[in-house]
Amino acid sequence: QKRVQSLKRQHQDMLHKNERLATLAEIASSLAHEINQPLMAIASYNDACLRMLDAPTLPRDDLATALRRCREQALRAGNIIGRVREFIRSKRPSPVVCEVNTLIREAIELLETQIADGAITLRLALLAEPLSIRADPTLLVQVMVNLLQNAIDAMATCPLARRTLSVFSARSDDGAIVVTVADQGGGVAATIADQLFSPFQTTKAQGLGLGLSICRSVVEAHGGWIWYSANADGGSSFHFTLPAQVE
Ligand code: ADP
Repeated sequence: QKRVQSLKRQHQDMLHKNERLATLAEIASSLAHEINQPLMAIASYNDACLRMLDAPTLPRDDLATALRRCREQALRAGNIIGRVREFIRSKRPSPVVCEVNTLIREAIELLETQIADGAITLRLALLAEPLSIRADPTLLVQVMVNLLQNAIDAMATCPLARRTLSVFSARSDDGAIVVTVADQGGGVAATIADQLFSPFQTTKAQGLGLGLSICRSVVEAHGGWIWYSANADGGSSFHFTLPAQVE
């Protein structure tokens, strides 16, 4: 009996390992693709700079512009690597006792400028009682920041009257903590609705499509669920749960 169990466990571990390898392969190939673009841009700006140096009179302004563009592209490549590193690291939480409403407020504070610049009205409906949980606070704040940032992005082109960002916290019947981030934007595009939480699904020109994937990894690593629902008025709601028990 013991031997069967041990074999079963080995099999499970192997499956898990294969799954991880498949995800890593997917990340590696997309990373290669994503990084290639800024690198090619850097190479061609460099060519342009070299040609300018050969010109009879040095076009200083053009040269400076091309060098600035080079710098932007290099930073973009670095940013892509940083996000992927964050994605991989996000699978290893280091839990402490924290309070979910406080984390929500922290995440909002980090995005204060974007909320003001986007002329967004914030509606907070947080449960009055403290929502204590054993979790990695940095990762949970990152989850909330990602969801809030997506909501802000989704409302960037909305009429001003439809720019309310709502954040709710609650407890479900079984005691689990439920956090909801709701916007009044255009809703999730049908083209990516099926793969919403998979890596590299994006409809944004500068997007990496890692945000929701990171959210899912983090929430699941904490024993919770994350899902999307369309609002009756056309916007989106993203919800996630965190288990009730404080160990
Ligand atoms: P990124 O923001 O880099 O595109 P995400 O994984 O955070 O990556 O989001 C993936 C895609 O899901 C977005 O490009 C967008 O199309 C869609 N999406 C996410 N949040 C929302 C939202 N609140 N409203 C509409 N679409 C959304």
